[in-house]
Amino acid sequence: MLTNMQVPARHTHLTEAKQVKKSVIDESEQLQLAIKLINLGARLQLLASETTISRERLTKLYKEIKGISPPKGMLPFSTDWFLTWRPNIHSSIFLNIYKFLQENTEISGIEAITTAYGLYLEQVHTLEKTADYQKGDGPVLSLMRAWTLLRFVEHKLLKTEACSSCGGNFVVNTYDLNQNYLCNLCHVPSRAGKYQCTDKIKHAHAHALHD
Ligand SMILES: [Zn+2]
Repeated sequence: MLTNMQVPARHTHLTEAKQVKKSVIDESEQLQLAIKLINLGARLQLLASETTISRERLTKLYKEIKGISPPKGMLPFSTDWFLTWRPNIHSSIFLNIYKFLQENTEISGIEAITTAYGLYLEQVHTLEKTADYQKGDGPVLSLMRAWTLLRFVEHKLLKTEACSSCGGNFVVNTYDLNQNYLCNLCHVPSRAGKYQCTDKIKHAHAHALHD
């Protein structure tokens, strides 16, 4: 608590009260954000980087919400994962949504990430309703993967490239030769095997990948 002695002369009790009120609101907003992120699947690395709450408090909050300690250690993700068949389609859907939000709304920062991720989950829900869709354990792209994807894009390791056949925008390695690029839907490798795409799913996916 600040005493009058510590407050510079020009500060009145009123502004002091306002500041305390503001910091209480800030703190509550940060907590709300952390809770939302934890529920979406965020781990400590993301929480510490996107909120102003200390790691110690985040760990306690995580335990409180999830009932278990947060997983320790760095994220093992490499850019390769985002380029494999099914993850690539899901990563591309998410990145298209995120870019659309960036270009067409005022939403930015972590809010843009959570909004884009929420819209991605809705899209996956729509896809799951199509016949023959291979249901997995939860969404292919976790929030942590989505967040990592954006960091790879930010560091110019990954980018999007338009498919020369369908025109959809897909995640590619920045350092690969992407001339006459054919996306994973237009060029399905045999190893995709059990994830064979029906025309219906292909159409739904393609729809999600265009503006
Ligand atoms: Zn294509």
